[in-house]
Amino acid sequence: MKRCFLLAVSGLLIALLAGCYTVPETGRQAFNIVPVGEELSLGEQEFLQIKKQEKVSQDPVCNAQVQRVGMRIAKAVGSDLPSAKWEFVVFESNDVNAFALPGGKVGVYTGLLKLAETDNELATVIGHEIGHVTARHGAERMSQGLVAGLVGAAVTVGTQDSRNRDLWRVAYGLGAAGVMLKYSRDEESEADYIGLRYAARAGYDPNAAVTFWRKMSASNQKGADVPILFRTHPSDAQRIANLQRWIPQVMPLYERARQEYE
Ligand SMILES: [Zn+2]
Repeated sequence: MKRCFLLAVSGLLIALLAGCYTVPETGRQAFNIVPVGEELSLGEQEFLQIKKQEKVSQDPVCNAQVQRVGMRIAKAVGSDLPSAKWEFVVFESNDVNAFALPGGKVGVYTGLLKLAETDNELATVIGHEIGHVTARHGAERMSQGLVAGLVGAAVTVGTQDSRNRDLWRVAYGLGAAGVMLKYSRDEESEADYIGLRYAARAGYDPNAAVTFWRKMSASNQKGADVPILFRTHPSDAQRIANLQRWIPQVMPLYERARQEYE
């Protein structure tokens, strides 16, 4: 038992020393010991599962819009997600929801398309969701969980694979109800900043981020049926104030890209 404990502690030290990831666009140094390859394959498996569970929309207008905006954002993301195999899928559902998984797997619900009426607003949402992925927020949580679990691993018996998978699902907030991760305020703010830059670099008006989150706020205040996206990405006045403060910084990116897409 004593030896196991020592092994766990030395593993912990190695992990702490080795695990650092520089978040693109913000430059934040994040603790991350999840191998990118593992994250990608888990993201792919999960996306396959969701496509089996949910109804994939065949609506040509919705699909064309999500592909059009998605591929432009993907181009703007570029080397921030080097091993992406981009996929943009529309799900038929009144839920106001969208998500992105590692590897560039993006799902948008038709309910969200009714609220995010323009390409600019849709770019805000897709950019933000991909921001969580390129920042590797899920893997960061999983890393913290793995380190916490290392000491525990010395005393519990179980297959490493199944434990990792459970940990991953918890870190990403995945469950029977689909992707339902509640992000922290810091994670939300970082994804907002990253997403704003992606949308601007893709030639979408960054001001749409403010109109979109105001609409989300307004629909939340109506009370009865709070959009899923709002439940998992809580908004407040501070968020909109931050976005307004960052918009002038990204306007030159937007102006340059807009000429390219005109
Ligand atoms: Zn978010």
